[in-house]
Amino acid sequence: MAQFHSVLSRRDFMKGLGLAGAGVGAAAAVSPVFRDLDEMASAPSARVNMPWWVKQVNETTTPIDWDVLPTLGPAYKGPPPMGLIPPAYPESEIFRMKMDRILEKYPNWDKGANTLGFPGASSDPEYPDYVGDIKDNALVMGAALLNMGMFPKELIMATHGAYMGLTDHPEGWRIMPAVEQRGGTKWQGTPEEALKIVRAAVRFYGFDDVTAIPVDDHFLKVMYGEKWLITHGAPTTFEFGDVDDIVCTPAIRPTKIVLPRRMKWFLQFSSRQPGEVTRHALGTTQNAGQAYYYTSWVKIVKSIQDFLWGLGYISLDNCNGRFAPTGATGILAGAGELARWGGVMTPKYGISVRVMHGVLTDLPLEECKPIDFGGRKFCETCGICADACPMGAISKDEPTWDAAKPYQYGGYLTWRTDMAVCSHCPVCQGTCPFNAFDKSGVHELVKGTVANTSIFNGFFTSMDKSFDYGRKPPEEWWNSEQPVTGIDTSI
Ligand code: SF4
Ligand code: SF4
Repeated sequence: MAQFHSVLSRRDFMKGLGLAGAGVGAAAAVSPVFRDLDEMASAPSARVNMPWWVKQVNETTTPIDWDVLPTLGPAYKGPPPMGLIPPAYPESEIFRMKMDRILEKYPNWDKGANTLGFPGASSDPEYPDYVGDIKDNALVMGAALLNMGMFPKELIMATHGAYMGLTDHPEGWRIMPAVEQRGGTKWQGTPEEALKIVRAAVRFYGFDDVTAIPVDDHFLKVMYGEKWLITHGAPTTFEFGDVDDIVCTPAIRPTKIVLPRRMKWFLQFSSRQPGEVTRHALGTTQNAGQAYYYTSWVKIVKSIQDFLWGLGYISLDNCNGRFAPTGATGILAGAGELARWGGVMTPKYGISVRVMHGVLTDLPLEECKPIDFGGRKFCETCGICADACPMGAISKDEPTWDAAKPYQYGGYLTWRTDMAVCSHCPVCQGTCPFNAFDKSGVHELVKGTVANTSIFNGFFTSMDKSFDYGRKPPEEWWNSEQPVTGIDTSI
């Protein structure tokens, strides 16, 4: 169990805050007030399975100037593909910038073949002498099958390259016939009932933070008109048209996708990354948590799509940010807040989330709002991830409206992580005080407090640093008892 939890009881914590003697009055001052349990259970945050202290708000906590924010489609025309980074720069140039930064930070770096089990340099300043281990690398290798949905090369060769991976069918694999051909009718229900059953199914398949928003003008502003995908040799264009079903041209790995106008909802969900293995790991070649959730997320998205198909509805996957940047969808749909580390922070899992996902669908869903749980506010005084980043990629400055790099966007007030020099290690993900690796009560209490007042934020940051709650020695993971798949699913 983490040191923080083992030495600090809930009562000690309350005493530390000066609240222990103050009783219910002080607690109520920092907590939302519900008159009874029915009211609490029917609150919007309860319907989407968010913690009770998460507030739904009308605007994202990241201020957005919709007049300045560029419409994304045209901005993504250019040479392929960098995934996270708009290809305003060629991939080779981005790679050179990354290598330059690595060699500047680690001039004695031995670029040995550490993916094969040979020692590599530690990328974590906190554990500079740890050079990796063959069992760390082996864990990653075992986790990497079907990475990002890619089939093993034998399968790709067997189809002469026709099928590369699970994302080849953006509309889903549709294993069963259409509902009409099955002799049935579509599932019928209210948008509220729809979100409820979809949330149950999504959580069954393995994802969480299930919310939904309409495809309105703001959504269309952040939806690409054209996007290069990692697995494609040519850009894909997206448009809505007078078609009955999603039309992909060509059918496999399409370069043009026409969507029926009735696809008016975006269903958002997120995949959590196993936390303990992340906070003990030192780099991509030693981080099985990252690898394992890259391998499973496409499969789970495809399961969700076939669930919708089974109900009688169609969907388009947003795998690899196919049609919209996942950070934008994550905050607009209320799955989390945009945080200093450059990605979405969720109330339950902090920044130990691998990817924000989603699908466009014609199933009408209850509209959710952006959320505020005090996360962005906390980032203003925290900066733990920026201090920990071995590449200096995370901003330690104030949020800005303007983009500092040609491959970033202006139009929203935030911290911009320099993805061109990010080594994807991901040390930052193991450090965030909002991470929750188990359901220990003190953490819930801290989050409930942060959601309602910022006056203790500095104290909580100092406390987190003092108790060294984030990063842990790599070797220690092998001696710890972890939940199955590394995730406490009771959260
Ligand atoms: S931003 Fe995170 S993943 Fe990227 S180099 Fe920094 S710590 Fe590593
Ligand atoms: S570590 Fe601190 S600054 Fe970084 S994302 Fe988490 S709360 Fe924000």
